[in-house]
Formats: sequence, structure tokens, C-alpha cells
Amino acid sequence: MRQRTHGVGFATRAIHAGERPDPVTHAHNTPIYATATFAFDTAAEKEAAVDAAMAWDPTSYFYSRTGNPTTRALEEKLASLDGADDCVVAASGMACVSSTLLAHLGSGDHVVVGDELFVITRVLLEDDFPRRGIGATPVDMTDPTAVEAAITPATKVLFFETATNPRLRVADIDALAALGHRYGLIVVADNTFLGPALLRPIEHGADLVVHAATKWLSGHGDAVSGAVTGRRALLDPIRKQVDTLGQAASPFASWLVLRGVRSLPLRSNAASANALRLATFLDGQPKVEWVRYPGLASHPDHAVASRLIDGPGGGMLAFQPRGGVEGMAAFTDHLALCDLGVSLGDVFTLVYPQPKRGGLIRVSVGCEDIDDLLADFELGLSFVA
Ligand SMILES: *Cc1c(COP(=O)(O)O)cnc(C)c1O
Repeated sequence: MRQRTHGVGFATRAIHAGERPDPVTHAHNTPIYATATFAFDTAAEKEAAVDAAMAWDPTSYFYSRTGNPTTRALEEKLASLDGADDCVVAASGMACVSSTLLAHLGSGDHVVVGDELFVITRVLLEDDFPRRGIGATPVDMTDPTAVEAAITPATKVLFFETATNPRLRVADIDALAALGHRYGLIVVADNTFLGPALLRPIEHGADLVVHAATKWLSGHGDAVSGAVTGRRALLDPIRKQVDTLGQAASPFASWLVLRGVRSLPLRSNAASANALRLATFLDGQPKVEWVRYPGLASHPDHAVASRLIDGPGGGMLAFQPRGGVEGMAAFTDHLALCDLGVSLGDVFTLVYPQPKRGGLIRVSVGCEDIDDLLADFELGLSFVA
């Protein structure tokens, strides 16, 4: 089996990197290694494998909580796509967010975080961290002066989302990384909303990148999975934390994501093209109060987003129909094609109405024919007063 994955393009790596054709049968597709334990012929072989794995060598296997070849295939693929040394795949995006922060923050430490974050990340910071003696200060990451002012002598980590939920703010990663490194901080970017086909934060100075692989990486809404990429020295404590907290990925989930990632560049491009068309359509509608899409000139971070994000601006958009929560429901409840759902990054377009935010609608744009999406949005808007 040919295994050339260096010096080739992004789409080629999305398909080829990390894959493990079966060496015994020559089955081309990477197997699902559904096994708890690994068997050895001699005591010495067993001891060497355990010792290496417990020193966080990710290619030594003895027990699938600590390491599994299907999950390892996904780790190698994602490290390759992010331009990282290595990757840790775990049970969910939150497993990676929590293990990354807990591995690098202890009692008395402090983290500066974005002021718009995925809701469960916020719960972790607000409810769990104070009990563990870890402080967190939320700050607008698009305001470098405010970020610098929030850094204290106890600060160890800077954590932000590359496109925030749900208002899609895009901070200048190069500037944040430079600032963080001046204070000796570990700079962590949650790149879930964009994915590595559109933005690779390590290229802009981030130390670690967290992904909810549940979203764009899987791409088919069929698995819950997470990943963190970066340098070995920063990842080893995270691999250990994932092991001690028991956040091991299921090999089946890893296999689903492994399969999904192969089409990530195609899906990201198709979703971005559709999102720009939908955002442009909504922008011109009298029944729409506002639309937020990084690819529109009206977006507050349009210049930064255009520099950071490949293509027109990603697959996520948000908008507000006229009439607040009533207008929101009039739109969402009359759609005939797009489903309402909280997740994102699926080939299905997912519409997420948010009554608690005054009727904001977040859209994860899928890969359907654009004319069908436009017709559905026109239908929804026709019910808005
Ligand atoms: C979904 C999501 C997560 C958490 O991922 P799970 O796989 O659901 O645990 C983290 N960050 C962001 C930005 C997300 O959208």
C-alpha cells in the first residue's frame, strides 16, 4: 500500500493521511479495531508495549482506553490537516475542551477566554472551574487592549473560538498568539465552526487547536467525537488527562469521522458557496432585520475574516427576521426542506432558532442544491409579517 502523505496537497491528505489498510488481508479500508485489549506472545513484549503507551507513545497499544489503531488513524489524519506534530482524539468535543484546559490549569491558575463561547464550555468555566480553584475572565477577543488588560500573573492559557457562537465574531489569531506568547501563555483555538479546510490556527501562531469532530470533520451528523492538535510536549499531558478521566473515543465513532474527513474539503467548499448565496439573499430582504456572515462586507470582522478564512467565509450564518421571536417562529415553522436542530457542520442544512436571543436564527448551511435552499428560505420569509 502506498503511503505518500508528505508534500502533497490538503485534499490529498484529507483522503490519504493516517489510513491503515489491513496488513494481513490487504483490505483497503482502515478497519474498525473493535477490541478492548491487545494480545502479546511474550511477557517482555507486553511490558514494552505498556511502558511505551504509559509514556504516551500514541502508536503503542495494550488497552483501548489508552490507545486504539482506528482512533490513531484519525489522529494522524487530523494532525496532518492542521499542520501539527500530533493529535489526541477523544469521546467528544467537550472531552477535548475540558481535558485541554484541565491538563494545563491547576488550582490558583487563571485563563482568559472569549466572551462568546459554546454553552457547555461556558458551564465548565462558570460552574466547574471555581470549585477547582481555577479562575476565568471572559473578554471580547476582537479587542486586543481588553485581552491584554485581562491577563494576570496567574494567567496560563488564552482560549477562544475562531468564529464565535452564534454571532460569528472572528478575532485576529496572529495578533492574539503574539500577545499570548509575550506573556508566556498557551494559546488555544476552538476551530469547530470553521474546520481545517477553511482555517488552520497553528499557521497563525496558535499552540493547540480544539475541534468538536462531531461537526464539520464528521460532516454527516452520525458521530460524537473530538480532537485536539498541536505539539507533542503540550499534547502528552492532554493524552494523559483523557486517559485518567476516561474520555476514550469509541473506535466506531473514530471510524465514522475518519470516513467523513475524506470529503471535508469538498463539503467545506460547497457549504461556503451556499452560505454566501443565502447570506447575500437574506441581506437584500426587507423582512430581515440583519444578517451576520463573515463573507459580507457588513460583517464587523470582514477584513480579518477575509485574511484568515479560505473561500467566501465558511458555512455558518446568523440572521434576525423582522418581528422578534414571532418573526423567527413564522420563518422556522414554515420551512419545508431545512430541519431545525442544534448541531452544525452537517451535509443537511440545520436551522437553529434561538428565542432566548430575541429571535436570532443560526444556520449551518449544508450541501443541498442552492436553488432548493433559496426556495425554502423564500417560503419561510413569506410567513414573516
Ligand atoms: C459542539 C461544540 C463543542 C462541543 O463538542 P461536542 O462534540 O458536542 O462535545 C465545542 N465547541 C464548539 C464551538 C462547539 O460547537
